[in-house]
Amino acid sequence: MTAGKKLYEGKAKIIYATDDPNILLTHFKDDATAFNAQKRGSIVGKGEMNCAISTHLFQQLEAQGIRTHWLDRPNPNEMRVKAVKILPIEVVVRNIAAGSLCQQTGIPLGTIFKQPLVEFYYKNDALGDPLLTRDRLLLLELATPEQVDQLQAMALQINQLLSEFFQNCGITLVDFKLEFGLDAAGELLLADEISPDTCRLWNQDVSDPTQRVMDKDRFRHDLGNVEDAYRQVLERVLAQPIQP
Ligand code: UDP
Repeated sequence: MTAGKKLYEGKAKIIYATDDPNILLTHFKDDATAFNAQKRGSIVGKGEMNCAISTHLFQQLEAQGIRTHWLDRPNPNEMRVKAVKILPIEVVVRNIAAGSLCQQTGIPLGTIFKQPLVEFYYKNDALGDPLLTRDRLLLLELATPEQVDQLQAMALQINQLLSEFFQNCGITLVDFKLEFGLDAAGELLLADEISPDTCRLWNQDVSDPTQRVMDKDRFRHDLGNVEDAYRQVLERVLAQPIQP
């Protein structure tokens, strides 16, 4: 698989064209950013680890009926994906209070919700990815009302499947961010990645609130042992066979 023209370079990935216009090649970088790229750094081996973790999780979700953009992983840090039109919406699902939700609402860190919370953010770095209301999302024509309903339903279904998967890994899925794209037929597909860069993951073997963190919060808050945490997630994820 040879990479063609570079189409887009983001903070953590580069997207290349391929000789098939319906297929793109995603290259996962070791670069890490946080706080809207105000903090920059590198996590050694992250590209390969996130590519492998995302691959396994997309395969697992596909086996359970979720349509994704994932095709295959021709190289350790490269994934072939279906070309989709990415919706400029970040769909965040939260099971436990953390991060910006705690800062913006005062809900204490670690509060477990009776029902998962689904939120939509505007994927727009210049505006700082603001939280959207449904009406603002529709006003901006970022999606149709039917698509918003489908995004919400898919996000909740994916949350159920991923929460169960991580539970089997001894990991609590605290919250995560999803992105979706439209294929040529206008169907919504799960896109982007699912990795410790985009999820909050807490080690169930550890109770200390700093030690239990297995995700990008280790980088965001300089908690140390970032690579070790990602490696631990990778090992536990890969140890779970894909199940229908
Ligand atoms: N997230 C992400 N990309 C973003 C913003 C958030 O992957 O641009 C993920 C983040 O890793 C966490 C969840 O979405 O798992 C919720 O993030 P939150 O809104 O709490 O923002 P943060 O505290 O990360 O700024």
